[in-house]
Amino acid sequence: MSAPYAPPLGAIARVLGVVGLDEVLELPPFGHLAAGDVEDVLAAFGRFAAEVIAPTDSIGDHEGAHLDQQTGEVTVPRPLRDALRRWVDDGWPGLAVPIDLGGGGFPEVVGLAADEIFATANLSLSLNPMLTEGAIQLLSRWATARQKKTYVELLVSGRWSATMDLTEPDAGSDLGAIRTRATLDDDGRWRISGTKVFITWGEHDVAENIVHLVLARTPGSPPGTKGLSLFVVPRQLVDDDGSLGMRNAVRCIGVEHKLGIHGSPTCMLEFDGAIGELVGREHSGMEAMFMMMNFARLSVALQGLAVAERAHQQALAYALDRRQGRAPGAQAGTTSPIIEHPDVRRMLLLQATSIDAMRLLLYSTAATADVAHHHPDTTRRAACQERVDLLTPVAKAWCTDEGVRVASLAVQVHGGSGYVEETGVAQRYRDSRIGPIYEGTNGIQAIDLVQRKVCRDGGCAMRRALDDASISLESAALDLGELPGAEHMRAAVSAAQEATEWMVSSADVDRLAGATPYLELIALTISGGLLAKQAVRSVSDAGRFGFFAVERLSAAQGLLVAATAGADRLTPDLLGCSLAVSGRA
Ligand SMILES: Cc1cc2nc3c(=O)[nH]c(=O)nc-3n(C[C@H](O)[C@H](O)[C@H](O)COP(=O)(O)OP(=O)(O)OC[C@H]3O[C@@H](n4cnc5c(N)ncnc54)[C@H](O)[C@@H]3O)c2cc1C
Repeated sequence: MSAPYAPPLGAIARVLGVVGLDEVLELPPFGHLAAGDVEDVLAAFGRFAAEVIAPTDSIGDHEGAHLDQQTGEVTVPRPLRDALRRWVDDGWPGLAVPIDLGGGGFPEVVGLAADEIFATANLSLSLNPMLTEGAIQLLSRWATARQKKTYVELLVSGRWSATMDLTEPDAGSDLGAIRTRATLDDDGRWRISGTKVFITWGEHDVAENIVHLVLARTPGSPPGTKGLSLFVVPRQLVDDDGSLGMRNAVRCIGVEHKLGIHGSPTCMLEFDGAIGELVGREHSGMEAMFMMMNFARLSVALQGLAVAERAHQQALAYALDRRQGRAPGAQAGTTSPIIEHPDVRRMLLLQATSIDAMRLLLYSTAATADVAHHHPDTTRRAACQERVDLLTPVAKAWCTDEGVRVASLAVQVHGGSGYVEETGVAQRYRDSRIGPIYEGTNGIQAIDLVQRKVCRDGGCAMRRALDDASISLESAALDLGELPGAEHMRAAVSAAQEATEWMVSSADVDRLAGATPYLELIALTISGGLLAKQAVRSVSDAGRFGFFAVERLSAAQGLLVAATAGADRLTPDLLGCSLAVSGRA
């Protein structure tokens, strides 16, 4: 049996303190809130998640979603539907949406904490509100007043849900290849036709209506992503008085059988002249969609943390309970709980420190986004936005890779029992594997980091972020004396600085060849800085920094070598094939 889920409220409160919740609560839109309100709302939501959401997690995994081929309707297991309806009825949706849009008016960093609790309790189910939150952000910025009135209020209430419709059979990482068409009919309405694949919660029986946000190409558009426009396409059309009208011409024609996240229906949708409305200007589709994609990237990063937290809870409970062999120092003739074996304790600490690092990285990015959006000083806002933009691909790729790593360690701690389904920990491993793939693969995130975020400004933003990490270490040393493992942190900062200068001055093909190890080096170094900041809080936090420094930051030198080795070593003949392109000018 799997360990019951416990919302990690203590760890969340500690990290909110480190990343500056106090400063966020002083920003103008949050004047009505006190620190106690944040604590109360998270505690109440934690209870709700443990009692109502978590029990549905393995049911969704076992039963999955079902498509009725005749009607195109998709049903999810009843307990999942009931849990999501209670979430709506109890007023939980829209915690971090501004009050004037019908939300709870909490900062983004508090919304992120609630999202973590939801995703830890049931990852598959959390994808439904996650996409709706992203759509609310997009529509609040890009929709007309009438569109906002029609869609936003009902999305905020949770009664309607939303989807993000980018991927097509021949357009995955390369959205410039999208072929879905939008044409104007005789009545001046846009008609959308095409096939979208892998659409999360693309059809289901949980919400009253589903609002699809679809990227499509209008007649005569330029090729590539510059020719894409964004359309809002409701499953059921909305009459002028706001009531639900006719069914629109969009239909689910397939639900995927997947490795994990079985409770989330992944749908193939056919749009057959469906009525849509243009959002924003024609050809501004990518710019608008980037708002939803950036939100979704941080949310997917959060899923890495969530799956890791749940896997660690299970591994820790198992390691305290399972007895095997005699640990060093234990009495002769006894067997020890496996947590007493140094190798098992090391695995558990690898998990725990990775979780600390992910939570710090994600919460600090969300708190920085709050400052970027609401600080009265424009220079401060710009500096914070620069950091959020820089850290978004780093967080997406690193946290999802860490999610897989921590879930894999949880299977290992369980031994053979981890490989069979009964303990529930195998589900964590299966569920974790999607994180590095969707919302832009981790390879694409690494390319975004080196090409757009680092090289476009000549490395300035990255230099500032690495300086901050170094300052955190040295200020912790002023408070506590030298931190254990500090030499590894200093070496990581200097490796990350050297790799950054190399990236800025190298040819495209060389930096693309090293983008993934570079991203890992940056993620470890920046997380190391945040762990150093947390270290001043307690002896145990300082000890965890030391463990992370020895076990993880000591890899920095190897990552520097791989990041800066260039592309010539990647010759296709090493794979036994020859290719037409070399990438060298
Ligand atoms: C469960 C699930 C849910 C999903 N939900 C949604 C959703 O809600 N909405 C939506 O629109 N999409 C969704 N997707 C689609 C997902 O975002 C894509 O699968 C993903 O972006 C990768 O595209 P692809 O599968 O076509 O892989 P490909 O683009 O074919 O990539 C294959 C491999 O090649 C690499 N690669 C490709 N191009 C490059 C390049 N230029 N440089 C370097 N490496 C490259 C990739 O990193 C990857 O390793 C979902 C997918 C799944 C499996």
